[in-house]
Amino acid sequence: MTRAKKMVDKIKELMYKPEKIRNMGIVAHIDHGKTTLSDNLLAGAGMISEELAGRQLYLDFDSQEQERGITINSASVSMVHEYGGEDYLINLIDTPGHVDFGGEVTRAMRAVDGVIVVVDAVEGIMPQTETVLRQALRENVKPVLFVNKVDRLIRELEVSPEEMQKRFVKVIADVNKFIKSVKPEKYDEWKLDVTNGSVAFGSALYNWAVSVPSMKETGIGFKEVYEYLKADDSKTLAKKSPLYKVVLDMVIRHLPSPIEAQKKRIPTIWKGDINSPVGQAMLNCDPKGPVALMITKIVTDPHAGEIAVGRLFSGTLKPGTELYILDKKAKNRAQTVGLFMGPRRVEVDEIPAGNIVALVGLKDASAGSTCSTVEDMEPFESIKHFSEPVVTMA
Ligand code: GDP
Repeated sequence: MTRAKKMVDKIKELMYKPEKIRNMGIVAHIDHGKTTLSDNLLAGAGMISEELAGRQLYLDFDSQEQERGITINSASVSMVHEYGGEDYLINLIDTPGHVDFGGEVTRAMRAVDGVIVVVDAVEGIMPQTETVLRQALRENVKPVLFVNKVDRLIRELEVSPEEMQKRFVKVIADVNKFIKSVKPEKYDEWKLDVTNGSVAFGSALYNWAVSVPSMKETGIGFKEVYEYLKADDSKTLAKKSPLYKVVLDMVIRHLPSPIEAQKKRIPTIWKGDINSPVGQAMLNCDPKGPVALMITKIVTDPHAGEIAVGRLFSGTLKPGTELYILDKKAKNRAQTVGLFMGPRRVEVDEIPAGNIVALVGLKDASAGSTCSTVEDMEPFESIKHFSEPVVTMA
């Protein structure tokens, strides 16, 4: 059996185990390393070859995508990662980072249950970090933190080991202060904490990372990081403490599964009657309930045409399923239903609740549409764009 076929089989198996699924996004201020991190996680998890990460793997992608890495314009990419002897399916949904796309960011946030907040270790948290993190928090999305570009601290700023740690403490304190200001009711639960591993440090570009749990496994701690970087040897560091492993372990450990998340998030992101059949089905991520799907993005495939990508909150989708596109008062039939394997779309016979799906045939759907088998389902809250003035951190 080829490796690709094995991977497809694994994904097909995992889609039925929502407790093994993580639907997440990555948010960052521009240039803090979101694209590099996305591409290198995908490559590290073996979903694309490392040499091709960020290069011209897909000739049909537009030129912006070729320049900026393969994950940037994909609506969603998926990775299989082993943690504690078990496989997990991690869906990374594109959450646009630019403030002008605020509406789009909020919409994408509705489809994810957790985010990795990427912060450049030299610059610290910036206005756009706050804007996108605020949108995530308001959608009841749980954050973990990746402090990126640690190499710059040592190569460019030549900081001492003490200064390096001081800077880390400052970034974490700033993000925590922000979480507390936006989501005080969740602060105790969501507070970032180095010791429990909800924070990792590293370099997306040079492919290494560390966290307190990883230090216990590998013996590579801050002291070793400092020494390897001083010796200009990120290669050994990347081998001993690889970026993808540390970061994806953090995602699995700290970000919720759809089962756990939907119980808490549905009442925040959906204003319909929670006791209705569709409300209960979404709350319980029930594959037997009515279909409730929110579209995050429409992408164009050169062969299949328009593909609607979104989060399936309840029910099971099959080719032929008829769906009401609620905002358009239209009815469309799903011709094919697919999942992602890395950046590729794989068509399957059916997809249960909790997954990110790619549908051909929903010609009336657009980003933000709610699609359901229930004609009078309450659509997801209308999209709000939060653009209030930025709170400057002391
Ligand atoms: P995005 O705008 O957040 O998607 O950022 P990119 O991933 O495009 O990265 C912006 C720039 O920072 C690029 O030139 C990357 O090569 C560089 N970069 C990303 N991660 C690192 C890192 O860990 N260390 C260093 N020194 N540069 C990095």
